[in-house]
Amino acid sequence: MTDKLYERDSYCNKFNAVVCECTPMDGKYGVVLDRTAFFPEGGGQAADKGTIHGIPVVDVQRKGTVVIHVLETELPVGEEVSCELDWGLRYSRMQGHTGEHILSGVVNALYGYDNVGFHMGDSVMIVDFNGRLSAEDVKKIELAANKAVYTNADIVVSYPSVEELETMRFRSKIELTEDLRIVSIGENIDCCACCAPHVAKTGEVGIIKVLDFYSYKQGTRIEMVAGIHALTDYMDLNVRSKELMKMLSVPREGIVEAVREKNTAYQNLYNDYQKNVRKLALYELAPVEIGASVCAVAEGLAFDELRYCANQLMEREYGVCMLFSRNSADEYGYVVSSKCKDIRGLSGKLNETFSGKGGGQAGYAQGKIKVSDEARLKAFVEELLQSEI
Ligand SMILES: [Zn+2]
Repeated sequence: MTDKLYERDSYCNKFNAVVCECTPMDGKYGVVLDRTAFFPEGGGQAADKGTIHGIPVVDVQRKGTVVIHVLETELPVGEEVSCELDWGLRYSRMQGHTGEHILSGVVNALYGYDNVGFHMGDSVMIVDFNGRLSAEDVKKIELAANKAVYTNADIVVSYPSVEELETMRFRSKIELTEDLRIVSIGENIDCCACCAPHVAKTGEVGIIKVLDFYSYKQGTRIEMVAGIHALTDYMDLNVRSKELMKMLSVPREGIVEAVREKNTAYQNLYNDYQKNVRKLALYELAPVEIGASVCAVAEGLAFDELRYCANQLMEREYGVCMLFSRNSADEYGYVVSSKCKDIRGLSGKLNETFSGKGGGQAGYAQGKIKVSDEARLKAFVEELLQSEI
């Protein structure tokens, strides 16, 4: 059994320990120490990082009552080694995990919902609740959680007896056992069964910020940050908003309106541009009449423009209209349309002859074909439209 220092003292980040076992493990080594402050992966939190005997710890896993540290290099069994945690990383996770407990405690107290899923990412934490929350609810939760931070309440770890646990009110997904670790925050902020290290005072969490929330399964998923990650998120957003203020020449509160105005102006210009492109395409088109039908080969037109030209030509009462656009050396887009005939057969023949793809409805089809010899395409279309007469 490993003496788990992290369960008693979250702040222990440098310690000495004796190497009890060192076993080869998939090209690496599984090291068991007599005592450890390295928190193993579990309860939604990743394993601690750091060094043992100067060698980086790749992973930490819990197996029964033993903690296994995974290292790239073998360690001498029986020797005492010095160990050091990546304290910046661990402390940010303690801030985050306590922040999550505070927020979950507030949700439970205000709405009675339970935390049914938790994942701690590199900075953002994902928390799932088994009930729906509105934007107004989330705002209320966020304020209450941060007010709990300001009280700078104590966070206490205890191991109550089963009898004591039966009379206690606490959040837990775990079955009641003798050695259940209970993390209590303040008098009534939160009480929850948890194996992870936490900060000692709520004030250390700094900021609790909900980044997003949305319906998930039957409840709500919250994406949140706390501690140093909440501060750096705000610092990053501030840099971005200052950049936008400069680009748009507006104060911070005017950014959204300025972007909206620019979007509308752009959309109007784009619509006008599209109309002109279509008109120009029709103007430059050199349609060839074959019997009662019409065809043309243009250059670099999108389907939207081809369709517009076809619709305009159809106004002139042609039987069938076949338009092509040379888009690259051998790729041609096509549009076939008719007001009175089912043109799907024509589109099928084009695809068949020129290794094409596409189709549509009785009066309109579009697609792409491979053409290595344009003269062959023109001859084929002429023959096809002749046979339609
Ligand atoms: Zn926890």
